[in-house]
Amino acid sequence: MAIKIVEEEIKNPEEREPPGNVIFTYIPEKSSDESLQNFVLQQLQNSGIGRIDGHITSNEEKVDALHDENLNLYIDRHAADEIIEHCAIMAKKGLEALGFLVGDLYIWKGERYSVVHEIVTGELESTAVSVKFRRDEFENLFDKLDEIEYDYVLIGWYHSHPGYTSFMSSIDMDTQSRMFNREFHVALVIDPINLEFKAFRISNGKCIEVPYAVFEE
Ligand SMILES: [Zn+2]
Repeated sequence: MAIKIVEEEIKNPEEREPPGNVIFTYIPEKSSDESLQNFVLQQLQNSGIGRIDGHITSNEEKVDALHDENLNLYIDRHAADEIIEHCAIMAKKGLEALGFLVGDLYIWKGERYSVVHEIVTGELESTAVSVKFRRDEFENLFDKLDEIEYDYVLIGWYHSHPGYTSFMSSIDMDTQSRMFNREFHVALVIDPINLEFKAFRISNGKCIEVPYAVFEE
């Protein structure tokens, strides 16, 4: 098991123009809820799942988030599809989903940005309101990372809140701080029932909701 997060790559990312073929952009506080719901619903319909029902309640405590308007997170459409599909399939069973975001860091005109190229996930110890990396499963996830054929950077993680909206809870903040503590590390929180898909980072201990763009290669 080797974590291939290359320090060099983080310090000296490749100079490259951001993805041009953007099919959806979400900017917190600016984009409408409706546009986001339409996007998620479209992905659910594309994967043959469609709208799903459910009313799972959670006592996860919501942490207030600030908002950032600078777009520097790009997600490959196939990765977004897989995330939404995974979260929906698990939600149908009344369970949360969780996985890693794998990609790369780039720089363009002095601005850094990250790209999620693919996801890695596995069987998880999951209940509707808490999802844990099992210790042995964690190893499996890292083994799967080893199968990816390019040098990658772990961009962050995703998990679902089936039916109780997309936000960072204090437990999520704790997970993020412990395991994904680089400034570019992102947490995606997906609610496949309320059709929400939001991105968060932690900066100076504060929760920041950040914009993202979904692109087609
Ligand atoms: Zn959560």
